[in-house]
Amino acid sequence: MTDIVPSHVRSRMMSRVRQKGTRPELRIRKIVSAIGVKYRLNVRTLPGQPDLANKRRRWAIFVNGCFWHGHKNCRKTRASDRYRIPANRPGFWDAKFRDNRSRDARNYVGLRKLGFRVLIIWECDLRNATELSERISRFVSTRPAIQETQ
Ligand SMILES: [Zn+2]
Repeated sequence: MTDIVPSHVRSRMMSRVRQKGTRPELRIRKIVSAIGVKYRLNVRTLPGQPDLANKRRRWAIFVNGCFWHGHKNCRKTRASDRYRIPANRPGFWDAKFRDNRSRDARNYVGLRKLGFRVLIIWECDLRNATELSERISRFVSTRPAIQETQ
């Protein structure tokens, strides 16, 4: 497979995809810890391996990179050259982002079927730390509506 992206750029990009404990994620952990609720990281037994989750209280948080998860209407990815889709392979990237988005959507549905509430935090949400802390606080403090799964 030929590739238009230089190999060192490619490997940096790919490492970002799988990387855990990224900076946005670390910030979210700090916020959740400050609220004082318990959580587990990268829970493999749940759909999509949520970045943070509490099985007993049935919530899951995903911290999504705006570029790889194809954040629609994202100010960050729109404004920055760093995130611009390579112009000579638009079809490839469109398909890639579409795949990522539909995989994400399947995972969220899977979690909801298990009675989990799901909070998706976008990388660009970190720009407003106060608003974000409040959102997370409300989310983790809410009791699950559904207590039983079928
Ligand atoms: Zn975004």
